Amino acid sequence: MGVFPKFSGPTEDKMPHDLPKAYDPTAIEDHWAGYWVREKLFAVPTPDPAVQNPAGSQSFTILLPPPNVTGRLHMGHMLNQTEMDILTRWRRMSGWLALWVPGTDHAGIATQMMVERQLTEEGTSRQKLGREAFVERVWAWKRHYGGAILEQMKRLGVSVDWSREYFTMDERLSIAVREAFVRLYAQGLIYRGAYIVNWCPRCQTAISDLEVVHQEQKGHLWEIKYPVLGDGGKETGEFITVATTRPETMLGDTAVAVHPEDERYLHLHGKKLRLPLMDREIPIVVDPWVSREFGTGAVKVTPAHDPNDFDLGERHHLPSINVMDDRAHINENGGPYKGLDRYVARKRIVADLETQGLLGAIKDYTNNVGHCDRCKTVVEPRLSTQWFIKIQPLAEKAIAAVKPDADGNKAIRFTPENYEKIYLNWMEDIHDWCISRQLWWGHRIPAWHCAVCHKITVPEPGSTGDPAACAHCESEKITQETDVLDTWFSSGLLPVSLFGWPNFVNRAPGAPGPSHLGTGEGIEDRADFDAFYPTSLLVTAFDILFFWVARMIMLGCWFAGDVPMADGRSRALADSVPFREVYIHALVRDANREKMSKTKGNVIDPIEIVKQYGTDAVRFTLASMASPGTDIAFNVARTEGYRAFANKIWNAARFIFMNVDRAAEIGITVDRKALGGMPTVDANAPLEARWIVARLHETTKVVNQLLADYRYDVAANTIYQFFWGSFCDWYLEIVKLRLDFSENANGSAAKSALTTLIQVFEAALRLLSPFMPFLTEELWHAVYDGEPPTKSIALSRYPQSDDSQIDHSALGAMIPLENLITETRALRKDIGVEENAVVPIKICPGPGINVSIGGGYEPFLRGNQAIIERLARVSQVLFVSQIPPCDLKRHTYAGDVSVIYEKKIDVAAERERLTKDIARYEKGLAAAERQLGNEAFLAKAPAHVVEGLKKQEAETRLLLEKAKAALEALPKE
Ligand SMILES: [Zn+2]
Ligand SMILES: [Zn+2]
Repeated sequence: MGVFPKFSGPTEDKMPHDLPKAYDPTAIEDHWAGYWVREKLFAVPTPDPAVQNPAGSQSFTILLPPPNVTGRLHMGHMLNQTEMDILTRWRRMSGWLALWVPGTDHAGIATQMMVERQLTEEGTSRQKLGREAFVERVWAWKRHYGGAILEQMKRLGVSVDWSREYFTMDERLSIAVREAFVRLYAQGLIYRGAYIVNWCPRCQTAISDLEVVHQEQKGHLWEIKYPVLGDGGKETGEFITVATTRPETMLGDTAVAVHPEDERYLHLHGKKLRLPLMDREIPIVVDPWVSREFGTGAVKVTPAHDPNDFDLGERHHLPSINVMDDRAHINENGGPYKGLDRYVARKRIVADLETQGLLGAIKDYTNNVGHCDRCKTVVEPRLSTQWFIKIQPLAEKAIAAVKPDADGNKAIRFTPENYEKIYLNWMEDIHDWCISRQLWWGHRIPAWHCAVCHKITVPEPGSTGDPAACAHCESEKITQETDVLDTWFSSGLLPVSLFGWPNFVNRAPGAPGPSHLGTGEGIEDRADFDAFYPTSLLVTAFDILFFWVARMIMLGCWFAGDVPMADGRSRALADSVPFREVYIHALVRDANREKMSKTKGNVIDPIEIVKQYGTDAVRFTLASMASPGTDIAFNVARTEGYRAFANKIWNAARFIFMNVDRAAEIGITVDRKALGGMPTVDANAPLEARWIVARLHETTKVVNQLLADYRYDVAANTIYQFFWGSFCDWYLEIVKLRLDFSENANGSAAKSALTTLIQVFEAALRLLSPFMPFLTEELWHAVYDGEPPTKSIALSRYPQSDDSQIDHSALGAMIPLENLITETRALRKDIGVEENAVVPIKICPGPGINVSIGGGYEPFLRGNQAIIERLARVSQVLFVSQIPPCDLKRHTYAGDVSVIYEKKIDVAAERERLTKDIARYEKGLAAAERQLGNEAFLAKAPAHVVEGLKKQEAETRLLLEKAKAALEALPKE
């Protein structure tokens, strides 16, 4: 009975026009989530460079911040993905070539730890397995369990291109990682050296500054006395006292430093000290870096275990003695303490110093101790040979990309804007980046050590395959570096590597590829790169601004900068950046604004909430609270509210379809060609039609602008107000007056009302679709009775407003009308008119100062009397010139209004109700009295229970008396 031919679309056995009575998000969402993936709706094939984008449409490219392959979806992901999906769907519907690329990160340290834990349970270890078998084991784990988070994303219906899904260890991405390394090496930007790194003794790897979390910790400051040596190495009896929070590091001391102008030590310049416990002679050095005010003004110098000492050691050519092994146990350089754990050694050293009378005061001391972000072990600053990137030329470009140029333009724009400053501050203070990790899972560093000449061989840029011999002495005794690259090195390359870099590099369009790569198979075309690089936007959380965002900017600008533009021009910085915009989203906290944490037990699992309320309601909750720079206090009460919103729209659809079917019975149908655009009305249309069309255009205009400004919150709330308030509460109620399909009705008026109704509803679904993709998909297919013009609402056009359709006089006229109706309803409530009663009102019309209404309000109100009667449940409107002062009245824009009403009582019903109440009270009283008379009960029950019971008894007695009096007062039959 639908408007359109029978349905034969995607849901086969179902006729979508006959919606189930109840809105059931689970059924809808599972169905459409599967459909979107199956139909590859969001796949964007590599554009043919010969064919320009249709109508020169712009491209919108966005990368999913790749979750760890070990990851599970949390609320932060859900917010991040909701925001990306809203924008991608909105751009796609607005005619852009919208590509969203998903993938996962191999997450070196996290994944290795997870598999190592499994091995421990099995009673083995990675060392027992050996490197090759261990790496194979991790791959097996990845194949079985990895990427579960992407399956979760599929259920959430995110509109990504699954055909482009990647893993950071995929071969083509690994080629890019290798090429990036060897190029930087050839450019002199990668070096190897011994420096102080943050060493995690548990993970047994260097970790970056960013992976160290500092926590205040109560500890001690131990004072140690170092004997001064005189001529012939004899102790003079004088001491220099130093203070330390880590006494065990003294085993590696190679000097004591004082300020050159510190008068306390002037006479000791050039003298030596005896290092207690180790019996080593160490010099006293002078260095202006030493603070005279701190402690005794003398500091022990341990170059191998402290970054400042390391620098000082370099300045004074002091030896560096590393006294700890990878597990932070004392090594052979620690003399008698060899083999002891660092904290066991500490105790023993303090005790030994005390025995020898060399221990000074022990003071309580609170300091900031670095912990490994992964395993929470205290990090040991330790000298270690690592690979570094010389950050400077890369950082300069990355700064220039964010700073405004002479014309005030920025190649990369941050939202919220304050992150620009945070980024720049950090970049201007950046140190060389330690890129090596002592892990087995990851991209192994492409460098080979020679056993003969001890030099390093790194392959030439553009080469493939591993070197067979040392590049310096031609010896074949070379072995590959065992370290792997920091995970952020590969994820930092993603924007360039995902679109085919470096395989097309140095290759002008159409020209044969570089000889080492051949010209045929395996050569990637640069069409992807030309179409999608730079990406449009990065949406991410603050916590990876430096880990990831800054690295993508550095590596993106550096490598893309060398790739000529499609037309052969050299690439400007503005086109080298990995993305043009960065949007940093807020944190999702619990309803009490507390940070979610496992220990607090307040973590909200998005999948659980989705099961309860539906994805659409959860997405809408997040969007409606996502105001830039403000954390979200996630409250399920709001989600419940948005589920009710979805339900309201569902019911509206059912109402509309019912009318469509009724109209069809008398031969009125709506042309489906009238749908899919923006509705228009002429000036003679009824007020509510002109008004709702104006509201739709007005809302559309605002929402498009808000989305461009990342104001998801205001956009969501604006649509909500429109759909629930304007459309459902007002327009639908009014339009019921016009939907008269009885035989003697005005057919053309009814048809035109029905047409506008469906047009507005269909457009409103499209407006809402990026926020609630499932509900709108289901209802949109139903509007077309299963024969929609495109496979999905996501491929239809996003509403665009037309200013000429924003009829301001209609918008203005609805205000006094709404006001009058709302006030009349309130007045009815105040004076106790029953919900369903229809009663007369008096209106004393106002003079009509509202510009939209000419000649006072009376003609206007008379013209819309049917609306007032219907919406305010009015039987009759009496226009009067004055409302008597004794009448209860309300003042409205349209005039004063009073309700004519005398409360009538249905005596029989009231008698029955009161009689029932009295019986119930008496029963309750009897029970309470029985209990209060029970000695045994009174003896045992706590005082507050007895007290409560007595109070309850008194209250019931009062209610009983009132009910009896009311019954008595009823008129006799
Ligand atoms: Zn660790
Ligand atoms: Zn060699």
